[in-house]
Order: sequence, then structure tokens, then C-alpha cells
Amino acid sequence: MRRDNGEKLLKGVGASPGIAIGRALVLPRRPAKLAYRYLEGEEAVEREVARLDQALEATRRALTDARDALGPEMKDYSYIIEAHLMILDDKLIAERSRRLIREQGINAEWALAQAVGEAQRAFAQVKDAYLRGRLADVEYVCDHILRNLAGQGDNGLAGLREKVIVVAHDLSPADTTQMDLSWVMGFVTDMGGPTSHTAIMAQAKAIPAVVGLERISLEVRAGDFLIVDGSAGEVVINPEEETLHRYRERQEAYALYAREVLARAHLPAETSDGCRLGIEANIELAEEVETVLTYGAEGVGLYRTEFFYIAQPVLPSEEELYQNFKSVAQRLDGSPVTIRTLDIGGDKFASAVELAPEINPALGLRAIRFCLKERHIFKTQLRAILRASAHGRVRVMFPLVSGVGELLEAKAVLEEVRRELAAQEAAFDPELEVGIMIEVPSAVAVADLLAPHVDFFSIGTNDLIQYSLAIDRVNEHVAHLYQPLHPAVLRMVRQVVEAGHAAGIPVAMCGEMAGDPRLVPLLLGLGLDRLSMNALAIPRVKEVVRSVSCEVWRRLARQALTYPTAAEVAAFMSRELATRYPELFEPQDLWPGRGDGRR
Ligand code: PEP
Ligand code: MG
Repeated sequence: MRRDNGEKLLKGVGASPGIAIGRALVLPRRPAKLAYRYLEGEEAVEREVARLDQALEATRRALTDARDALGPEMKDYSYIIEAHLMILDDKLIAERSRRLIREQGINAEWALAQAVGEAQRAFAQVKDAYLRGRLADVEYVCDHILRNLAGQGDNGLAGLREKVIVVAHDLSPADTTQMDLSWVMGFVTDMGGPTSHTAIMAQAKAIPAVVGLERISLEVRAGDFLIVDGSAGEVVINPEEETLHRYRERQEAYALYAREVLARAHLPAETSDGCRLGIEANIELAEEVETVLTYGAEGVGLYRTEFFYIAQPVLPSEEELYQNFKSVAQRLDGSPVTIRTLDIGGDKFASAVELAPEINPALGLRAIRFCLKERHIFKTQLRAILRASAHGRVRVMFPLVSGVGELLEAKAVLEEVRRELAAQEAAFDPELEVGIMIEVPSAVAVADLLAPHVDFFSIGTNDLIQYSLAIDRVNEHVAHLYQPLHPAVLRMVRQVVEAGHAAGIPVAMCGEMAGDPRLVPLLLGLGLDRLSMNALAIPRVKEVVRSVSCEVWRRLARQALTYPTAAEVAAFMSRELATRYPELFEPQDLWPGRGDGRR
């Protein structure tokens, strides 16, 4: 705990860009120490049970109101609140607490804490990652009940009347629906990563946010003055005058930059000599569509559909998937959406599917392999995608295809689904484009054999780098060897582009590499037709494309391919970018000393 009132800088994960400066509103956490009370007599015990029931009822009402108040852009979150309501009614919590009050003659807070403790211990034993992950939800619901027991049901969010920076241990969609976001300048939380609810919601509403700060909700006191730098992932508590001045300047510069860049975000990505590059966005939720359009995306180049399978305990129904895909297609209003079929396995676990433990999950039953084994799951998804194709420009894309046999098998399932839908006279686009992700080295080697069977390729560099350089993408110990500029990676990209173009199909890239402005001129020179990236990267990437010449970069790409190491390619790129476009790249944006192409 901080004792003085001095300036303190904390680093977390920048979850939504921009700078906010203002007073903190700290959402209450569960009190560190709960009071124990022994109850004398049956009457006192029954009064305590009634008090608990009232708190449960007040919590239920608050959650139901929050669910009903969800705006259309947040509807997909209602299942989280449903899960909270289920926990509230679970006998492990409510019934067990009542029993403990009656059996041990103890106060409701103490009984509830005991019941939650038991549930936590039981959960910790569970093998299922989804259920273990629900522990945070149990704690959230318990905190809510405790607040009601203490007569503090309102956590300060409902009646906001001044601009604040919300500081919380964690924020659930139920919390955010209670607040009038026009009073919220920023969010900072202990928990969460770049794809947490807080991050997605903050991005959608363009509110600066820093998450994953671990202990900030304990460090900040109500009324402390804060600076939230969502671009750098930094929070300053009670800044000195000089720091404040520095950040105010940055805030103005950022606001100006954001306005300027956004104003040009809708211009096409066309080079000075007239080459046009398609710029699309990667999304994980339907709610992101409006944001990606604001940032100038010309479509969705990768819709990761794992969310439905990871976030809820049951498999999504065809209808649920269909409604979601249809809504994305319609919201895009004529621009294409590339729906990737389920890529579960590896480091992503489905909650409703029992996967056998694997020693090497990244090399195991993942993505298309999983779908070809669990045909019913695959077919349900394909039916939903095909039906959604009647409502907009939908493409389907298979992940992790390793060769022609696998692709033909996947296409046969798609054909079967098409026939079934046609027999049922269901509407779908007969011209639905079918593509594959190129993310396994074997697919690169046979790209020329794959190309005649598909309408497009999309290079998934996150996995292609992992599999070709044998670098586990989630292992921090080998992260320094993850080199996008490795000559092997660049040669593979060139090979895929050549194979695609020889067969007359477009070649896209949708891994993280595609959104790195430093790499964009090179990717253009290598002949890629479309890039798909995090929406926030789009305006700058478009800016870079508009500043370079396709002709020049075709030549420079050929030269880049002659260097034997990633470090030499990086040094070459740094030199070329710094001398040709000093107004676009600051030296610190480029590859530093080691120059191996990592960010
Ligand atoms: C990739 O592998 O590059 C990719 C875009 O897919 P994901 O990151 O979802 O595996
Ligand atoms: Mg991948």
C-alpha cells in the first residue's frame, strides 16, 4: 500500500488507446476482513437467513436490470450476466449459506464467505479450464451479495454526475451497463488482458483503458488524481506538475493525431503509382464491426469464431451462430466478412468439448483436424455460415489446412451441407467464396496444388512463424526467436503469393505481421493483395501504403530476400524506411541494434 501522496508510475497492458487525466472513482472490493458474529436464539438465526435472502434478491434484481438494459451493441454479453444469475441461485452458494447460518448460528457474511471458500476449493480441483475460469464469476457475485448485505448495493456507478476514471479490480459487463459512459474518461483494472471485456468495450466506446495492473485497485484511493495512457499501457497516480504538463501535451497531440488519421482512414490504400491494397480487419465479436468501419476497414478479413465455444459452457446452436454471422454480414453493409471456421485446440480450449490431454497441443487435434473429427460441430457451423451468406458478402475460410487431402475433405463436408440446405430450400449464396489459411509449412510447399481448389489464400503468420521456425508462440522463453523477418518466412510468403497468382486467386495476410506499418511496404513489394489486421492499426497502415511506390518496393523486396539473416533484413529495412520516409518513421519506430525483426 502506498503511504505518501507522491507520484507513482504503474505499467500494465494498454487496452484502448488515448490519454485520460482526472479523478479516480475506485469501485469497492470485498472488505479484506469480514466480521464474525455468533447468533443467539432461533429467532436471530431466522432473521439472519431473511437478511441473506434480501441481499440475494437485491443482487438478482440488479443483475436482471443490468441484463435488460444491455444495448444492442452489447447483447452478446448477456450470457455472462446469465451465468452470474445461475451462480446466484446455485445451491453451492445460496442454499449452502442458509444451511451454515442455521447449523452454526453465524452471520450471513461469514456463512457466505465459507460457502464461497468451499466452492473455490471444489473449483480448483476441476480439470475443465472453463469451469476453473468461472471462479472469477463466483467471486464477482459474492462481492455483489456482500455489498448488499452491507447496505451498499450501489457501487457508485449508477448515479455518476462528474467525469471520473473508473478504477476496479475487474469490470464485468454488468458493471459497465450500470454506468453512464459519458461520465467515464478512462478505465484501469487489476485484471484483464488485451481481449478482456473491459478492453473490447473500452475500444468500442473509444475510452482510454489500461488493464492487467494487478494491484492498482489497492494502490489508488478515492479522489486520487490519475493519468491513464492507454497507448503506452501506463498509469500515473498523483502526478507532479511537470509530469502532468508532459501528458497534457501528449494528450493534445494524440487527439490531434487521432482526428487527422481518422479523417483520412476512409481514403483507399493506394500507392503513389496506383497499386491498390485491400485493407481489412480482424475481429472476434460482432460488436466490433462499427469500430472497424470507423477505422477505415474495407471488410473483415478474419472473423475468429472461437468466442462462442470458449466463453459458454454449451455448444452454440446453429440458430445462435446464424443470427450472429447474419448480424455481422448486415452491419458490414455490402463489405465482405471472412468467417474462419472453428480453430479450437492448441492453446484455445472449448468449454463444452472434452479434449483429450495432449503432450503437444499445438501439433494436436486442432482447427480443421478437430472439425473433421467432430463433424456435427463443423456442420452446424457451416450451415450457419451458409445461411448467413444470404444476407451479405460472406466468405468461408478453413484454418490450419496442411494439404490437398484435408482441404478436399473439408470442401466435401461443405458440399454436403450445401445439398442439405438446398433440399430444405434454405437461402444461401451459391457463389460463397471458399478460402484457406496458409499457416502450416506443408501448405506452403504445396500451395500450387492447393490454389486451384480455393478462391483465396490468407497467410496466418502467427502460426506459420511458429510452425516453420519451431517457436512456440505462447512460450515467453523462445519469444526472442520469433522473427517475422527471418528469410525463411519471407521466402514462404513469396512462394504462397506466386502460387496464388499463378492460379489467379488473391493472396491475403491476416497474422500480426500484416498490421505492422514497418513491414507493410515489404508485404506490398512481395505482392500481397489484401492485409487484415487489428482495426486500430488500419489508419496508419493505409497512410504508409499511400506514401510508398509499388514499383520501388517490388525491387526492394527482391533485395530483402537476398539477405541471409533476419538481422540483416531488419537493418536493410530500417535503412530504407528511415531514408525514404523520414516523416513516417521515427528512428525509435524501427528495428533497434539487435535488428532481428521482432517488435
Ligand atoms: C495466424 O495464425 O496468423 C492467425 C491469424 O490465426 P490465429 O492467430 O487465430 O491462430
Ligand atoms: Mg492461426
